[in-house]
Amino acid sequence: MRDPVRASRYDVAFAGMGLANALAAFRVATLRPELHIAGFDTHASVGAGRTWSFFAPDVTPAQLAWLRPLLRREWPAYEVRFPGFRRVVPTPVCTLSGPALGRALTGLTRAADIAEVSPEGLTLADGTAVAARAVLDGRGARPSSAFRVGWQKFLGQEIRLTAPHGLHHPILMDATVQQLDGFRFIYVLPFGPDRLLVEDTRYSDTPELSHQMARQEITSYIAAQGWRVAEQFSEEQGVLPVVLDGDIDAFWDEVGPVPPLGMRAGLFHPVTGYSLPSAVALADAVAAVLPARPESLRRMIEARARATWQAQGFYRVLNRMLFLAGTSDQRWRVFARFFHLPQPLIERFFAGRTSALDRMRLVTGRPPVPFFQALRCIPSWGQGEVITPPLRPVGGLVSPEVRADG
Ligand SMILES: Cc1cc2nc3c(=O)[nH]c(=O)nc-3n(C[C@H](O)[C@H](O)[C@H](O)COP(=O)(O)OP(=O)(O)OC[C@H]3O[C@@H](n4cnc5c(N)ncnc54)[C@H](O)[C@@H]3O)c2cc1C
Repeated sequence: MRDPVRASRYDVAFAGMGLANALAAFRVATLRPELHIAGFDTHASVGAGRTWSFFAPDVTPAQLAWLRPLLRREWPAYEVRFPGFRRVVPTPVCTLSGPALGRALTGLTRAADIAEVSPEGLTLADGTAVAARAVLDGRGARPSSAFRVGWQKFLGQEIRLTAPHGLHHPILMDATVQQLDGFRFIYVLPFGPDRLLVEDTRYSDTPELSHQMARQEITSYIAAQGWRVAEQFSEEQGVLPVVLDGDIDAFWDEVGPVPPLGMRAGLFHPVTGYSLPSAVALADAVAAVLPARPESLRRMIEARARATWQAQGFYRVLNRMLFLAGTSDQRWRVFARFFHLPQPLIERFFAGRTSALDRMRLVTGRPPVPFFQALRCIPSWGQGEVITPPLRPVGGLVSPEVRADG
């Protein structure tokens, strides 16, 4: 029988039940069923209307195995389209289903606005105090002046067409569309024979996105493919940071004593802004160390986030080249060149595991942005990445001797 004192106190309270905390709660519930856990979120149903996509190699085979029952779709390949160039890349793409994740957490989530979090528990907006031995703060990204960023912004609609679309795999980027507001492309996920998610995306200097204009662009794209919409199910929009530079110490100085998870811990891919692979890895790591004291959980997460930041230095150099060198209407050339590279290199890039050789391949070859402008983008701000001198042109953007921080 449960100890009455313990019963009034959770082993873990999850503050926010978005992607990162929901995955962590799912792993804790699966691996540590003896722990008394609960999640609190403004939204009553976890993951309602949401999907999160990722490339299969972004996660380990063991992680893919536990994610599989939560997937909405899995495709064997994806396609990219640029002016004068198309490629089908046989890398599997998966989409996690928000509703499936929500169903897996039935009974563990309470609908509540959280007013305050502390290492000892939560205070809900109605004044209810929730005591816990550990709290994980997954309330989404918080604004921080510690990072200098560009933006990936998008608006997507899930629709049913009047006839089958004929697509067999996602179109990750269709950049044959007019280049507006930076690098612009359409992203298409074929969820069923006549069912699509169509998203207008821009890599832009500003976070503002005209929803009306994005809707018009989606409508024009659909018409240009010869498709007709029978029904629209949902619409989503997002503005994700593309990190150019930053001060990781300043970021962690701003974090309070409650261990953060997901975007709140700065754990996302620097180029795509996607956080699912990091959230999956952290869900496993958290489940493995519980029960744990809040200080040691926070230390563990901070150490992982700092290590990730160090390892991502090269990606921030690339982002600076993308955003700060050349003109914004030519940004698509950087991605077009990238997608000419070998499939394993592309996979390692998205998985955040580029090797020294990959880095060399990424910065050599015909420059998609002017060499001298690119060179100016390399020095970092604060304690960013270190460039090993000398820099020398090798017919690409910069010499290969760019290494990640410290
Ligand atoms: C539309 C969109 C699509 C995306 N698609 C992908 C994708 O396909 N793949 C990918 O890897 N990444 C994707 N991302 C990027 C990123 O992975 C997601 O934003 C992801 O949901 C972030 O996870 P998180 O847990 O950090 O935050 P969130 O998932 O945003 O979760 C935060 C949760 O906290 C709750 N909350 C916040 N404040 C309170 C409060 N005071 N009280 C109670 N609850 C609170 C919110 O209701 C929310 O449920 C997408 C982002 C957006 C916006």
